[in-house]
Amino acid sequence: MDPFGRHIDYLRISVTDRCNERCLYCMPEGYKGWAQRADHLTPDEIVRVVESSTTLGFRKFRLTGGEPLVRQDIVEIARRIRELPGVKTLGLSTNGLLLKDLAEPLKQAGVRSINISLDSLDSATYQKLTGGRLENALEGIEAAMNAGFEVVKLNCVLLRGINEDQIVPLTEFGAARNMPVRFIELMPLAPGGPIDDGHFFSVIEAMERLMETDALDHAIDKPQGHGPARYYRTRRNGALVGFIGSVTCEDFCTTCNKLRLTADGKLRPCLGQNGEIDLIPALRNGSDLNELIAEALQEAIANKPESHSFGDDFKVNRPMTAIGG
Ligand code: SAM
Repeated sequence: MDPFGRHIDYLRISVTDRCNERCLYCMPEGYKGWAQRADHLTPDEIVRVVESSTTLGFRKFRLTGGEPLVRQDIVEIARRIRELPGVKTLGLSTNGLLLKDLAEPLKQAGVRSINISLDSLDSATYQKLTGGRLENALEGIEAAMNAGFEVVKLNCVLLRGINEDQIVPLTEFGAARNMPVRFIELMPLAPGGPIDDGHFFSVIEAMERLMETDALDHAIDKPQGHGPARYYRTRRNGALVGFIGSVTCEDFCTTCNKLRLTADGKLRPCLGQNGEIDLIPALRNGSDLNELIAEALQEAIANKPESHSFGDDFKVNRPMTAIGG
């Protein structure tokens, strides 16, 4: 329990700050702040943190990055986490580019749910925004569907003037595949880049855009998940759509149940505040490892702020790619 009565049982683990895409809202242009590979937590260290966290009641875990699939040992990491007795669910967030070959092994390793980023169905826009090839992401989505994960969701960051015309097509794409699509408000997490406040597009505007063509009903049968999305169904084609109002939704943080672990071993209590607790001394120099890790986790929970500071001229100390989305 944190100081605001929230039950913290979800750890989002970044396994690398590297990525095979260059999303303009995630990584500042020409970013050079990469962690050294030696600074990345090893599979043993990640497993050790997960194991300690389960003794405190953490049950839900998600692997992310950067792009988690660029790590050669990602399947091993997933399998070893899933084998730990206290772990109830394991998810993974990816851009999908490498999923064609990895979907099946990840499913076998015990990953339950996959979130795939898909910001546009227009290949030129997709390429401009992410630096990647839409075709590869679509192949990854298909592979995830075929592998039989319990949940596959699509994530789209809303960007005024760039992909706002994709709200309806992406919703229809999700509906045709029975995949929930979640629209996410842009957070200021890639400072100094070409994407700024002028590109902000709220979830309310996205809902209005959808309602121009179809009615939206509150979804009672929303997908299992641990995130902050509010779900609706379009009345005509039955698409399940989630809205993540990270910036405009006033009570966004009231149900926050997570801590983040960066690839270089920092516990981050909140995405929208810069406080971090360094786990490396406990992991690499400590004698009573489990106790020290559990203490650091407890400190991070005690330091969770009531809410993020996105609206308060917040300046992030590391970009999203180095935090873990
Ligand atoms: N590479 C993986 C991917 O593409 O999903 C995992 C990491 S990525 C940082 C995780 C999620 O964070 C993605 O859905 C991405 O769109 C989202 N994201 C990144 N930067 C963001 C920002 N500035 N505002 C809102 N969402 C952001």
